[in-house]
Amino acid sequence: MSDVLIVGGGPVGLAAAIEARLAGMSVTVAEPRIGTIDKACGEVLLPGAVPMLQRLGIEPPGMPLRGVAFFGGGEDPWRVEHRFSSGVGLGLRRVVLHALLTERAEELGIVRGYGRLQGLNQDAHAVTALTDLGETIRCKWLIGCDGLRSATARLAGLSDPHPPRHERFAVRRHFAVEPWSDVIEVHYGSDAEASVTPVGHDLVDVSVLGPRGVAYRATINSIPELERRLRGAPAVTEARGAGPFPRRTTARTSGRVLLAGDASGYVDAITSEGLRTGFAQAKAAIDAIRRGRPAEYEREWQRVTRPYNLITSGLVGAGGTALRSGLVATAAKAPRVFGAVMERLTR
Ligand SMILES: Cc1cc2nc3c(=O)[nH]c(=O)nc-3n(C[C@H](O)[C@H](O)[C@H](O)COP(=O)(O)OP(=O)(O)OC[C@H]3O[C@@H](n4cnc5c(N)ncnc54)[C@H](O)[C@@H]3O)c2cc1C
Repeated sequence: MSDVLIVGGGPVGLAAAIEARLAGMSVTVAEPRIGTIDKACGEVLLPGAVPMLQRLGIEPPGMPLRGVAFFGGGEDPWRVEHRFSSGVGLGLRRVVLHALLTERAEELGIVRGYGRLQGLNQDAHAVTALTDLGETIRCKWLIGCDGLRSATARLAGLSDPHPPRHERFAVRRHFAVEPWSDVIEVHYGSDAEASVTPVGHDLVDVSVLGPRGVAYRATINSIPELERRLRGAPAVTEARGAGPFPRRTTARTSGRVLLAGDASGYVDAITSEGLRTGFAQAKAAIDAIRRGRPAEYEREWQRVTRPYNLITSGLVGAGGTALRSGLVATAAKAPRVFGAVMERLTR
């Protein structure tokens, strides 16, 4: 019987496993996918995420990111930029991040299983998890880090049954082109956004976010600045999709079961804060378990998650893309407030 079973070996699951091991607990990770895992992601590590990884014993490489710039199109194009007041973010291929976390987990002797969670039961002393490989894993605590479609949240009765009003989807590809900027770029198109991250000396990640069926190339072509930058640049990875989001949960703990990362709720990709927030949640979950007070996790989860959820909801909740881009353009007219909000998101 492990002290902790982590369901899902994505970045947040592996960070939680490493946190638990560093706190002296025995850990098992259940992740059905074999090898290094890729996922549609803008591949930004915000400045606040970098020291979190360093604390786990990981020194992430990557392209330095010094701020974020928003671009609006239409008849009156505009651009606003915020440079980070301190520290730098990193543009880092998702597969590189996953390989680094896996290597560190292996170094610490973390046990890995290959089953997919299918059932769970708990009593006052332990949780029993059942996987599709027929394994029965007993643990004192279980942390569900199994992403947007979390089986843990569903089985623990923590999924919000109400569908969101507006669902968004994403598609990501990489282009072989020399990065033209050292900031994260967010371009507003007619009904979708594109975010651009330099992730190598000749590689950029372009993620398109929009409604169901969002057209990837048509969105890029509808944004003149981006179309010009990518003209003739070969796409070197397949399109990878994600969604729908937002995803909500009704609470983050049920007895000995806790949720972290996207499994605990996710608003949108536009603010690039998923990993930083997920790493903070992973730490808070392990701290609460270490104290033997899982109920305290809910308060900590709210503390590390809510401000960003509110800002991100504000940025994506306002009507269509035109309204949303108008909101950013207006906010940028009050540079001190805009700067303070951007800083809050990145730390
Ligand atoms: C287009 C896009 C761009 C984004 N850009 C950024 C960005 O630039 N920066 C940033 O910080 N964040 C970004 N995000 C958010 C970020 O990708 C997520 O917040 C992050 O991946 C969450 O990690 P996770 O480990 O919680 O979930 P995941 O990465 O989804 O991992 C979940 C794992 O659980 C496993 N799993 C699923 N079901 C089960 C089961 N039943 N049993 C066991 N295992 C299971 C899966 O195989 C998977 O490996 C972006 C998201 C999208 C969609």
